[in-house]
Amino acid sequence: MSEQQNFDVVVIGGGPGGYVAAIRAAQLGMKVACVDAFKAKGDGKLALGGTCLNVGCIPSKAMLDSSRQFHNLTHMFADHGITADNVAIDVKKMVARKDKIVKQFNGGVAQLFKANKVTAFHGFGTLHPERVVKVKLHDGGEAVLKATNVILAAGSVSIELPFAKYDGKYIVDNIGVLDFEETPKRLGVIGAGVIGLEMGSVWRRLGAEVTILEALPDFLAAADADIAKVAAREFKKQGLDIRLGCKVGKVEVKKNEVHLTYNDGKEDQTLVVDKLLVSVGRRAATEGLLAEGTGVRLDGRGMIEVDEHCHTGVEGVWAIGDCVRGPMLAHKASEEGIAVAEMIAGLPGHVDFNTVPWVIYTEPEIAWVGRTEKQCKDEGIPYKVGTFPFAAIGRAVAMNETAGMVKVIAHAETDRILGMHLCGPNVSELVHEGVVAMEFKGSAEDLARICHAHPTLSEAVHEAALAVDKRAIHKA
Ligand code: FAD
Repeated sequence: MSEQQNFDVVVIGGGPGGYVAAIRAAQLGMKVACVDAFKAKGDGKLALGGTCLNVGCIPSKAMLDSSRQFHNLTHMFADHGITADNVAIDVKKMVARKDKIVKQFNGGVAQLFKANKVTAFHGFGTLHPERVVKVKLHDGGEAVLKATNVILAAGSVSIELPFAKYDGKYIVDNIGVLDFEETPKRLGVIGAGVIGLEMGSVWRRLGAEVTILEALPDFLAAADADIAKVAAREFKKQGLDIRLGCKVGKVEVKKNEVHLTYNDGKEDQTLVVDKLLVSVGRRAATEGLLAEGTGVRLDGRGMIEVDEHCHTGVEGVWAIGDCVRGPMLAHKASEEGIAVAEMIAGLPGHVDFNTVPWVIYTEPEIAWVGRTEKQCKDEGIPYKVGTFPFAAIGRAVAMNETAGMVKVIAHAETDRILGMHLCGPNVSELVHEGVVAMEFKGSAEDLARICHAHPTLSEAVHEAALAVDKRAIHKA
């Protein structure tokens, strides 16, 4: 039997929740271990960073950027007087660039662990009673770790449809879609959520015919309806064929083609594609994580139950990130990781869930923070709205990126900002004006009185804040 090793904190999962928690706990003087099972593409070695770094946020953004450059060159630059002959995309090179970026950051996290004296274990961890973590090491053997505190940060995995099992060749999840060797002629996507829209955009820009089937009747139901409407219009112009209210019932691979049968609410339809991405959501990765008798509970959706402080109710056992309630976002996972490490150290760790920003990195980008208009209505909150289009912003016109708008929602009586919703160029950055204003309990008047540089895209935020009280300057 292996000798037990003692730690102040053992983190299971090395994603943006787990590795950030491990580093923060180490900064606070604790002896920390982090267990992660992810195997690097190619050599199968330890690849810290979780879903986010290996097969999520970072690789998808690398490919979104490559495909955006290609699309700009083929479709946008002519307006600037720039033309080029024989423009081509080398997909293998694009994917290799993405892999290089991932590897660079895997090394970066490993370096941070070294600098902070966090011990990494490469293998699968299971929590046993009394905060013992047993690790089935990928190199063989087992490590037994005893911790004063355990942080469960196991993340999430793609939900698989029983009638469309992933085969890695024709039917893929978020991992396979990042590794196509060439642009598919026809790409089908089940699910018009963030991953479906982002990866659909990548391959559409590179020339694929992309059809996205969404079961819900509304497009981007989580976003504000005005923003979703603008985005849907722009995606249609780009040739993304998004079909709403379509329930897929059957998927078959025949002669190198994927045949789908779906019902569009009226009748059965068929769709034939070369590759199919299934992106219908993710579930907590809790299989094998908890041995008998730990006392840690799962809710009806398989998520680890925690209170508002990420505590599981079992002494010294915490859980964070995608495997617990709340949005499945990397920055939410990291904030929870920091908060838990600080609480373990006796500090007042805290996450403000009302100001977690959401971003979809399509073109135009979509971003928001706080309540939508519908949520205000449903909660009976009196509100007022100011909007401003990018088409009236000099910088956006100069950039030739005029689609979209900013919408500010404020309380009708107190003027406090309740939400900010954006669709347009660089709104993944602009949304943080709303985050900061809301975090400081700011009003629309506060934003309206802040001097914004000219010409910048952030003037759209300023004007939307002014528009809340009908005093936007550049709006007729
Ligand atoms: P994860 O990142 O999933 O990490 C969990 C880690 O734990 C993994 O390495 C896993 O192998 C390991 N693990 C699990 N169980 C065990 C075990 N028992 N023993 C040992 N190790 C274990 N979010 C954003 O905010 N912005 C984006 O742009 C964005 N883009 C995305 C794009 C895609 C294609 C996908 C799939 C996701 C994207 N996300 C994005 C979501 C983001 O990746 C997750 O919210 C984030 O990774 C969650 O972090 P986490 O630490 O909770 O879990």
